[in-house]
Amino acid sequence: MTSCSRNFDSLSWTKASEAASNQGSTLIWPFGACEQHGPHLPLATDTIFADRIVSEVLQRLPNSLPIWRLSNQALGFSPEHSSFPGTISLSSSLLLQLVMEVGTQVAGFGFRRLVLFNAHGGQIGLLETAARQLRIQSPSMAVLPCFLWRGVSSLNELIPKHEKEYGLHAGLAETSLMMAISEELVGFERPSEGIENSIEKPPEGWSLEGAAPCAWLAKDLTKTGVIGDTKQSNLDLGKLLEKALIDHWVSLFTNLMESNWPPVC
Ligand SMILES: [Zn+2]
Repeated sequence: MTSCSRNFDSLSWTKASEAASNQGSTLIWPFGACEQHGPHLPLATDTIFADRIVSEVLQRLPNSLPIWRLSNQALGFSPEHSSFPGTISLSSSLLLQLVMEVGTQVAGFGFRRLVLFNAHGGQIGLLETAARQLRIQSPSMAVLPCFLWRGVSSLNELIPKHEKEYGLHAGLAETSLMMAISEELVGFERPSEGIENSIEKPPEGWSLEGAAPCAWLAKDLTKTGVIGDTKQSNLDLGKLLEKALIDHWVSLFTNLMESNWPPVC
């Protein structure tokens, strides 16, 4: 089985029907965005990451597993970056409806699980909402909304604590990872911007993300589009990050495919 045969839309309708009827049949839908990522990274950064990690994970899973992928969803929900040219954002209602419509049809084919594999931090909450709503409508199919960078414990050893906390966008991690995946797409600027440079900081006890977040807009924090420090970005770190992400998601997808989730209702 080549990696190409993991592409759902490369299957004939008869093979697609067969695929969906497998016990534990699973479909991964990679989610990215078309949004500014500083002056040095492409608009498709999140899409490129979701695509690469999903492809690498699928190549590492045993051929016998009933798991396929959809094409990338390359437009997402990115209103926080809309003041920067190049950002193309869908409305929240449209993205929600898209997940519902595609998901309902996929469940109708007989798929047992749909994984929303998302690499854009600004649509985590929306995809979680969409997943819940879809599960209620199609209870026979599990819907798993996950975020590329979340829960990957080995990142703590690779990214300095400060950057992990405040490097929210197009910073050290994303710049280094893009060097490893598509170095030719990385420009030469290395901005450092974010909370330290912003005119107004979140009130005491509130934060940009986390426990008491404040739904920031990129223009609150940055002129270049970068929220974080890109200065130390390098290829070696990018390779380590890519490996950490692949290892983590291979492990999680292996566990998923060995499980009986979702319970039969
Ligand atoms: Zn990004």
